[in-house]
Amino acid sequence: MNQYGMLVDLRKCIGCRGCQVACKQWNDMPAEVTRNTGSYQNPARLSSKTLTLVEFREVETKDKLSFVFVKRQCMHCEHPGCATACTVGALQKRPDGPIVYDESKCIGCRYCMYACPFGVPTFQWDKPFSLIGKCELCADRLDAGLKPACAKTCPAGAIQFGQREELLTIARERVYAKNSPYVKHIYGEDEVGGTTWLYLSVVPFEQLGFPKLPKETPVYLNDKLLHATPTIALGMGLALSGIYWMVKRRIRIQERILAENGDHQGEN
Ligand code: SF4
Ligand code: SF4
Ligand code: SF4
Repeated sequence: MNQYGMLVDLRKCIGCRGCQVACKQWNDMPAEVTRNTGSYQNPARLSSKTLTLVEFREVETKDKLSFVFVKRQCMHCEHPGCATACTVGALQKRPDGPIVYDESKCIGCRYCMYACPFGVPTFQWDKPFSLIGKCELCADRLDAGLKPACAKTCPAGAIQFGQREELLTIARERVYAKNSPYVKHIYGEDEVGGTTWLYLSVVPFEQLGFPKLPKETPVYLNDKLLHATPTIALGMGLALSGIYWMVKRRIRIQERILAENGDHQGEN
């Protein structure tokens, strides 16, 4: 079966955050406390109430400082660590691409948090029995023959919805065209076995906070191994905890850099 895909062209994004608002509206999510992260107010990070977030990243390009706006959300991995780690099947990959969440099955163990290489699933920390919240690729809209709300809303055409293979063809044409300004990397084409969301950028992805990940699905995300024996499961649990620690550390560092950029801007 063909799988859906989303192509985000960061060169086209104008940072209007229309996608962020459309996502809140469609998913009926409450507002949450924002903070000053520079010249703008935004929620601090993805959360169970903010399923997509547009970060403002200050980067140096051709001897001048400029902003790159980076939309974040669940990447809808081809081999989703979250679904592999979930022992009760609350997270499942649909044949058409989205990784969907069934809260009636969730036991709140948080293994999915540890297993996600992008640090996406977050819990409702304010509830006694917390459930996770994450982008589900607007699976309900897809079932109704509609585009995801963020893709429909984007006024700049920065988010393109379609079949993943077709979007990859479009992405390759842009990246490998003569005198193309894009870096020669389609983020999500191969990372951890490929993701539904694909990104193009004129700035190296490492400068934008995208994690550098292997092409292959890591062995700790292999579902056969993960559930093989209790010993292996314990080992995998420790490995997942280590990865979670590294992801959290990276997120904390990125937040500090963003906060410091904000402080400097305030001084100027
Ligand atoms: S990005 Fe994380 S939460 Fe989303 S599908 Fe991949 S492993 Fe799961
Ligand atoms: S696909 Fe839907 S849930 Fe995911 S970021 Fe876009 S609007 Fe939000
Ligand atoms: S709606 Fe489009 S242009 Fe506006 S912030 Fe989102 S991706 Fe960027």
